[in-house]
Parts: sequence; C-alpha cells; structure tokens
Amino acid sequence: MHKNITIPDGIVSSYLCDQWVAPDNNARVIRSAVTAKDIAKAGNSSIDTAAMLNHARKQGGPALRELTFHDRAKKLKQLATHLNEHTSYLTELAFHSGATAADSTIDIDGGIATVFVYASKGRRELPDDTLCTDGEVEQLSRKGTFVGQHVYTSKPGVAVHINAFNFPVWGMLEKLAPTLLAGMPAIIKPATATSYITEACFRLMIDSDIFPPGSFQLICGGTGNLLNELSAQDVVTFTGSANTANLLRSNTHLLNNAVPFNAEQDSLNATLLGPDITADSPDFDIFVNEVFKEMTVKSGQKCTAIRRVLVPTRLMDATQDALTAKLSALNIGDPSLAETTMGALVSSEQKESVIDACNQISTCAKLTYGDATPTLNDTQMNAGAFVTPMLYHCADPDNAAAVHAIEAFGPVSTLMPYRDLHHACELLNRGNGSLVASVVTQDGSVAREVTSRSAAWHGRLYFNNLHSNKESTGHGSPLPHMVHGGPGRAGGGEELGGVRAVKHYMQRTAIQGSPDLLQSVTGNYVAGAPTAEHSKHPFRKRFSELNIGDTLHTGSREITLDDIEHFAHFTGDTFYAHMDEEAAAANPFFPGRVAHGYLLLSFAAGLFVDPDPGPVLANTGLSDLAFQKPVSAGDSICVSLTVQTKKKRNEEYGEVRWHVTLHNQNDEQVASYQLHTMNAL
Ligand code: NAP
Repeated sequence: MHKNITIPDGIVSSYLCDQWVAPDNNARVIRSAVTAKDIAKAGNSSIDTAAMLNHARKQGGPALRELTFHDRAKKLKQLATHLNEHTSYLTELAFHSGATAADSTIDIDGGIATVFVYASKGRRELPDDTLCTDGEVEQLSRKGTFVGQHVYTSKPGVAVHINAFNFPVWGMLEKLAPTLLAGMPAIIKPATATSYITEACFRLMIDSDIFPPGSFQLICGGTGNLLNELSAQDVVTFTGSANTANLLRSNTHLLNNAVPFNAEQDSLNATLLGPDITADSPDFDIFVNEVFKEMTVKSGQKCTAIRRVLVPTRLMDATQDALTAKLSALNIGDPSLAETTMGALVSSEQKESVIDACNQISTCAKLTYGDATPTLNDTQMNAGAFVTPMLYHCADPDNAAAVHAIEAFGPVSTLMPYRDLHHACELLNRGNGSLVASVVTQDGSVAREVTSRSAAWHGRLYFNNLHSNKESTGHGSPLPHMVHGGPGRAGGGEELGGVRAVKHYMQRTAIQGSPDLLQSVTGNYVAGAPTAEHSKHPFRKRFSELNIGDTLHTGSREITLDDIEHFAHFTGDTFYAHMDEEAAAANPFFPGRVAHGYLLLSFAAGLFVDPDPGPVLANTGLSDLAFQKPVSAGDSICVSLTVQTKKKRNEEYGEVRWHVTLHNQNDEQVASYQLHTMNAL
C-alpha cells in the first residue's frame, strides 16, 4: 500500500473503567481487506462487563448529568474540533479496510460533522438546563389552577451501541453525540472487522480528556454477558444485519426488562426515475450519476446504497448503456492510491457473502455488467476482497422475489422496468420497509403521489432534479438534521433527526400540578403562576438580574379613529376592515371598523419599552402571535410583559422570551405573543 500505517502492536484494545485492556488468547484475528494478511487481533473473553456498567452508572452518568445541555454541547464541539486535527491518520489506517480516502471522508469527516451539528443544536435548541420540556403547557382545568407539561429527563442508565463494520467512525459518533448530549454514558461495541479504526478514534477521544471518566467505554470483540445485565433505564441501539438484530432483540432478559432496543438493519433501498424524465435531459444524467455513486462509494457497503433501480420501460436500454459506460471507467484497486476510484470489500468473508447474495439474485435477474472476481494487475492484490460492480437486469420485477429481498452488501444493483407510477410505487414498497427511496422528477404531482403511496414504507424520501442537484446532499447520506431509520425490514428504528435523537436517551414524563409547581420544575413561566412586579423596569435589568415571572403591567392607551386612519395611510394598509364601516360590519369577525393588529403591536411596544440605552440590546422577533378579539376606536389597551424563559447565548448576552398579553378596558385579552430580546449579561 501507498501509506503503510500499521496498527500499533497489532492489537485492538478495549477500554473499561478508565483502563485499556489488551486482547487475550481467544482474540479474533482481523485481516487486511487488500492483502488478506493478518493485521491485528481484538477481543478479550474475560472483560468484566458488570464493572463497566457500574462505572458508567456510578461515575460517567452522574458526571454527565451534572452538566447542562449547553455544557455538554460545548464539550461536543471541543471533541469534534480535536478529532478534526487527526483525520489523516484515521484515513490512512482505514486503507486496510478497503476504503479509499473519498470513502473515509464520508465516514470520518461525516462523523465529526455530525458531532458539530449536535454541538450546535444542543446550544440553540435545548435549554441551559438538565431537563427540557416537550410541547406546550396543557390547561387541564377550567380555571387554569391545574395544568400539565411533558418533560424529558436523562435516563440514569447506560446506552449500549452495537455498530456495523462499514462506518467505524461515523457509526460511533452519530450515536454518541446525541447520547452524550442527553446526559447518558455509552458503551460502544464496534464490529470486529474494522474495530481498529474505531479504537484509534476512541483513543483520541480518551486522550483529549474532554468528557468526564466513564462517559464512554469500548468493547472490541465479543460483548460477553453485557446484554443480560441491562435494565429498563439502559438503551441498546443496534446497527447491522437483520439476522443479528433479530437474535439480539429477542434476548429474553431484554424483553423481560423492557430494555429499549433500537435497530438499524439492512435495507433494499430503491431509486426511481420519474415518468416525466427523458434520456436527453440533464435530470437523466443526475439519475445515472447518483446510481453510479451509490453502487461504488465504499464499494457499495452502505446501508443506504441503491440496490434497486426503477426506470420507465422505454428508458431501460438508455439507463443500462449510461451506467455501463460509467462503471467501465472505474479504477478498482489499492485504496491508498490516488488513482483508485473503488477499493475493496472489507474482508474475504464479506466477499463470499456478496457472491452468495448475487447467486440468489441471479435466479430472477441477469448479470449485465461485472463479475465477482476481477483479475487485478498486482498478483498480491488478487488475494484481497476485490469485486467489480455488478449490475443486474430484471425483466419481470413483479415475479422476482429475490431482487426485492436479498441485500448484496457490495457494489450490486438491479435495474428493473416499471409500467406507470402506480406500478413503480408498488415496486418501491416491495423492499418491505427501507431506509431511503429516491426519485428524480421535475413533476410535483409525481412527488406527491410517491409520497402518498410510498412514504409509509421508507424512513426517508429523497427528491432531486436539476434545480436542487447542485446543493443536494445525496441519496445515501443520512443527515444529522433528518431522521435516519426505516420501517419493517430496515429495523423499525430511528436515529438522528436533530434533537429527536437526544430524546431517545431520555424519559418523557407527564407532569401535572399547579402552575407555580410546574414553573419550579421547568424553570419556565407558566401562566397562572404568581408574578412579581418591581419598581425597576425589567428593561433596565441585565440578563442575570431578570427572574422568571418578573412582570411589567403598563398603563393604558385609548385607540382613536384618527389613530386607525393615520396608521392606515402611513403604512399603506387600507384594508376595508379598518377603513369601511359597512364592509367591515358585513364581515363575520368584526363589529365594524377595527384597529389593525399591527397598530396594536406598535402601541404595545410604545407602552412597554424603556427608551434609553440599557441592557436590552435588540428585539430579535416575536412568535405565537394571536389576535383574539377585535379592538375598535374608543377602546383602550394595556400590556402585561412577563419573563417566560431565559437562555444564555454567550459570555456577552442571552435571549429572553417574554410572555406578552394585551387586554382591553373590560379586562378581556385581545392579543398575546412571545417577544424575543437579546439582553446583556
Ligand atoms: P452484523 O454482522 O449483523 O454485525 C453487527 C454488529 O453486531 C457487529 O458489531 C457485531 O460484532 C455485532 N454482533 C454480532 N453478533 C453479536 C452478538 N451475539 N452479541 C453482540 N453483538 C453481536 O452486521 P455487519 O456485517 O457488521 O454490518 C453489515 C450490515 O449492517 C448490512 O446488512 C447493512 O445493511 C447493515 N447496516 C445498516 C445500517 C443502518 O443504519 N440501517 C448501517 C450500516 C450497516 P462482530 O463484528 O464482533 O461480530
């Protein structure tokens, strides 16, 4: 290989209770994907899993839960920044696994980017607190003295992450980031075949000393009795084949203790060329490029890779020709060489499994490109786990069970025709539940119909065309912002999807009680809880001086017909409801001419602002605005402004959200909203 990085001492260690533990005599041997030579061993049969769990529960968990979401998010950012400095070492190490540098970008840079996204989301979307609310306060009684609020708190257990071989870094980081953000420690069990890459990345994380001891531990090799020692407060997240998932999820101990088990399994993902696309359009090229990319990136060893290619019957030949041309230009070989465009499968076992799957697909489809055992120039390399891409042609996809059921986890796809969109959707859904299906179309009605007929069978639907292509993220890329997972065959699990993933490691509890008690629990103002009005105007108080519930009640201001006329002509908003008595009265909502809602907002600001320079730096927006009752000329309004939530943004300022209500002279609420300001600390 070009860069001959060896695995230090040829051992892949585990890390438990703050100690590295080397493999023992029963360790499994790991071979190079490229040369098939032994490169390392991993596994220790006497690993004390009970001690690991105890360490996580007694040390890591409590230390993490001492920190707020923001503290944890800051640490995630530090961790991602630290790992970013070492990507080239990990990439070179990953050459042993058959991955090219481009393949590793997805795994290593993609994993680090995911941690950065969670660091940012943790700061922006979660409070600087150890618990968070879910949804709005629910009024459970007529007078509002008994209310409800759902809250999430950290589970006091351990997350056990069992990962697949194909993403040794991303697979670890994409699960770990939301777990740590949730305040839960993790035990990571990478697939043995690529555990040396995970272990190298894990070492960087331990050496960085960013997270408290016990936050994460590592088991390379077998997991021993680990699963039988878990409790209801623990979580298992599994990624791998359906067979292993079924074996593990049916563990009696896990079932008896209702241990949450999330599975991300194999998937017969499909792509669909829309019926509106012609062979001479740029959209056709986009489609072909995407299929080519999905077949060859990571040598097709991606859970989201395209396995089934659905095209209108009239475009079968054109698609076959275009794909063949691209596949024949591939340069398969040593992944460490810059000129190589496709490396090897991870191991000779994986190669056997791909060939076996291809044999099953061959029962109902014809191989039109490639063969499983390419002859490479370098004789030494012939020992490696290399295969060519293999493209199958299935003429009768309605009667071809194997192409919809057999996952060849390599560079293998099957091209098949569809008659019309209804038929195409039926075929899309034949995968029996998949992670992702993609559609290239310009036609909104195609997008709508595919969504209606097929979304329930897929975790993600990815639409692309010329307009979005340049910025689109790719059929096969799970994004931290969007849900990853899928129904049925794909495992029925869900990961990522922004802060949704954090909540998988927390318990949602319905809290019911009086407004003041709920306010004490959540730290947010709950309408009905006592408020406090002070002589000092709240806009004169710095962020740190403001307390939840601090309130200002303003004086009142009468709205005159002149005000309405003036506002209408000044702004240009001469809508009839404000200008024409007869037309306004004919409207079911108004008694006659009424004040503009925006006039009320402006007068409200005039009533509550404190004009001089002070701690309020900016009004950054308002939300949840509702105009509840019309205000006519002659009515008066007054405003109540209450500190609802506070969120520190940085060392200079924080965001304050104010609960604002407007009342008329009869004490009827006419409008309400949430005002957002940035206040100096
Ligand atoms: P696998 O053979 O099912 O192994 C998955 C993980 O389970 C490995 O860490 C493996 O460890 C572990 N494992 C196996 N038996 C176990 C046991 N009895 N107790 C505890 N752990 C056990 O899958 P793979 O070959 O690594 O991965 C390829 C498959 O994963 C493909 O089917 C692919 O579609 C799927 N995949 C799905 C996703 C997704 O997000 N849905 C992502 C990536 C891959 P050892 O390696 O030590 O046996």
